[in-house]
Amino acid sequence: MSQPKEIPLMEKIVSLCKRRGFIFQSSEIYGGINGFWDYGPLGAELKRNLRDTWWRAMTRQREDVVGLDATIIMHPAIWKASGHVDTFSDPMADCLVTKKRFRADHVDPQSGLVYTYRGALNGPTLQASAATEGLGLDESQLNNAMLGYDAEKAAPSEDDKRIAKLLLNFPAAGYSDHAFSVLVPPGKPPESARKVAKQFYQTRNIQEPVLLRETTAKVENSRAFNPENGAQLTEPKPFNLMFHTYVGATATDEDKAYLRPETAQAIFAQFKNVVDSSRQKVPFGICQIGKAFRNEVTPRNFTFRSREFEQMELEFFIKPDEAIEAACGSVAAWSEGTDLSKPQDNWGWEMWHRYWVKERTDYYNSIGLGTDVLAYHWQNKDELAHYARACVDILFKFPFGTEELEGIAARGDFDLSQHQRHSKKPQEVFDEDVKKAFAAWSDDQKAALIARKKGENAAKGDKATPEVDIDAWCDKLFKGFYVPHVIEPSAGLDRLALAVIAAAFNEIEKTDTKGAKEVVTIMKFHPRIAPVKVGVFPLLKNKPELVAKAREVYDLLKKHLTAFYDEGGSIGKRYARQDEAGTPFCITVDFETLGEKGDELKDTVTLRHRDDGRQERVKISDLLGLLLPQVS
Ligand code: ATP
Repeated sequence: MSQPKEIPLMEKIVSLCKRRGFIFQSSEIYGGINGFWDYGPLGAELKRNLRDTWWRAMTRQREDVVGLDATIIMHPAIWKASGHVDTFSDPMADCLVTKKRFRADHVDPQSGLVYTYRGALNGPTLQASAATEGLGLDESQLNNAMLGYDAEKAAPSEDDKRIAKLLLNFPAAGYSDHAFSVLVPPGKPPESARKVAKQFYQTRNIQEPVLLRETTAKVENSRAFNPENGAQLTEPKPFNLMFHTYVGATATDEDKAYLRPETAQAIFAQFKNVVDSSRQKVPFGICQIGKAFRNEVTPRNFTFRSREFEQMELEFFIKPDEAIEAACGSVAAWSEGTDLSKPQDNWGWEMWHRYWVKERTDYYNSIGLGTDVLAYHWQNKDELAHYARACVDILFKFPFGTEELEGIAARGDFDLSQHQRHSKKPQEVFDEDVKKAFAAWSDDQKAALIARKKGENAAKGDKATPEVDIDAWCDKLFKGFYVPHVIEPSAGLDRLALAVIAAAFNEIEKTDTKGAKEVVTIMKFHPRIAPVKVGVFPLLKNKPELVAKAREVYDLLKKHLTAFYDEGGSIGKRYARQDEAGTPFCITVDFETLGEKGDELKDTVTLRHRDDGRQERVKISDLLGLLLPQVS
């Protein structure tokens, strides 16, 4: 007997998400819209819990981070200053046959034999022309002659000369001289390449293509062909990922605005207002959660790469290292094992960067994503943006591969400086401590710092700034003014939701009382993020006293945590339903609760734990005290 086919994990997850109301395709009744997803009842609760845990960890539990809630559409000049208008693009390539669009750098590399054709001729026109030129070949011989025809042959035959003349006089409407290539995996016959090539020439109005001059060459790891049919892709072209719209009724080019592709820029644009209104002093951070939009070339992997998604971003502003050096004598150097638990005055960008990597890792651990499912990618020099000093991607082991969940970048003072330059509004802060520290420096010390900065600048080659700017920057710093540097932990809420769903997904085989085996799903969410924290059931729904008591328990709990009341089906079925929803606790009200088995058990319930099926007897009055610390 053949074994049932194993369903890939990702398919199971997508199917569970739809069946249980975590995630639905947007606009599904109209066939869906690619790259857009809706969250159902359980998904909406899960996402809200993730948002809340992030917000709590990043701002409410800290004295040095404040929140912001900015608009999605902002002045378009913001996106010019940030560089998004000019450079926020992905390379895009189209299949020349199907017109399907690919992100050129995401096409799977392929190896094999490339068949290239110099063009194609329309079959019936070719036969008529061959007769006129006196080529005495039948249809199949003629087609083969075209396939092998070489215009550069050293000693052309009489037929070659006739073909050359035929091509010279061939009616333009039946001839395409566009070269086209097809990649065929090793071992596949040339017919498969010819079939795809003919499809290509049909798109160029050659109804019955006869292929001209076939040549072959080996290639390895090429991204230039459509992995689905082997057809050649167009040359990659940059494609700006920002969605645009028009603000106002005239809809001219001057009214063009963008849906934000990230939440971070609003934080930079409002930096001064926050400084002036919040009494925060550098080092401090501003965080924001909100929608972002990117017209991704190839949205894929369920919600992982969407066109509309939510980001959770922090911009943590710090002093330039030179200011720390003046105030503390030196800047703390990081080494493996350095204590990062409490920020110190002598921390420069490197320690702050390491600190945020640790903080973010602690956050993921606190919602159940441990070191077994996380990984880190420290970007090397070639991958880093020119202004960035370091960037680490926190990765999650998704079923489709280990991919980015969050990026943590040390971005120098690039962002605020860009807005200062473009808006012509100073983005500097004045720091009395820094002024005082430099006041104690000798002229020689200051001259040495200026010389060092100029040396560092010169080493940047064509990215170096004019030396007068270095003088001006040092002069301001000595007076206590600087543009803060920034550390940016930037996470995707939807990617995190997908990660916790994938991490929670568990299947176990159960045997029922009749010995039948079935596979059941248990979503083992950390109680802190579980969409529903507790299910409340009366043992039987046709006993009014049980129902009334269960409702009483439900009313008590629902004021403090997300609870779900269910009286349908057997208790086993109700547990199974909550296991699939990821509910960590279930409570059953039974006859003991009503005092029918004696006073000792009166007003106690059965508390059942999702992960190990353990059941315990708990007093109703103890429930909140027991559950609340575990779910918050
Ligand atoms: P990628 O390389 O995967 O496109 P990115 O490096 O462009 O991501 P950032 O611009 O650093 O991403 O955005 C920060 C975070 O926002 C990412 O780590 C990710 O969690 C989330 N994010 C970015 N693009 C998308 C998207 N298209 N769909 C869902 N989440 C996204």
